[in-house]
Amino acid sequence: MIWVWTSFCEVCGSRKSKYVCSRCGRRVCEQCFDPKTWLCKICAQAKGWEPIEPRAPQMDVVTKLFALSFLLIFAGFALIFLSALLTIPSGETSFGFVFFIGPIPIAFGGGPHGLELVAVGIAIAIAVILAMFLILRKWF
Ligand SMILES: [Zn+2]
Ligand SMILES: [Zn+2]
Repeated sequence: MIWVWTSFCEVCGSRKSKYVCSRCGRRVCEQCFDPKTWLCKICAQAKGWEPIEPRAPQMDVVTKLFALSFLLIFAGFALIFLSALLTIPSGETSFGFVFFIGPIPIAFGGGPHGLELVAVGIAIAIAVILAMFLILRKWF
């Protein structure tokens, strides 16, 4: 496996290496190499050469937050669903669900343990909102 790894560009890691940098000896692809100076991107950047290829666009903060909040809400739903499932083998028809409309949780439940399940759901919802708030504060 080592030869496979080293045959890839040591700068971007996604393309096959074609050149060897004259300064650091990295095996690099044509995109990460400047044939005029025979230097890799890293060594060339140290000398003030602009990279040929712009860096891959980074996920912006909003996209990250959106993805993360979705993940947290999904985790919350999974927990609620699990707790609902766990009550079924006991022969009781308890259920509790919490829906999110934006940050507003809408909860409903039924059966002998419905209220407890809704309470768990709301607790998860609060945890999710709190986590989102903390993330927002960290990013902005
Ligand atoms: Zn490369
Ligand atoms: Zn180099």
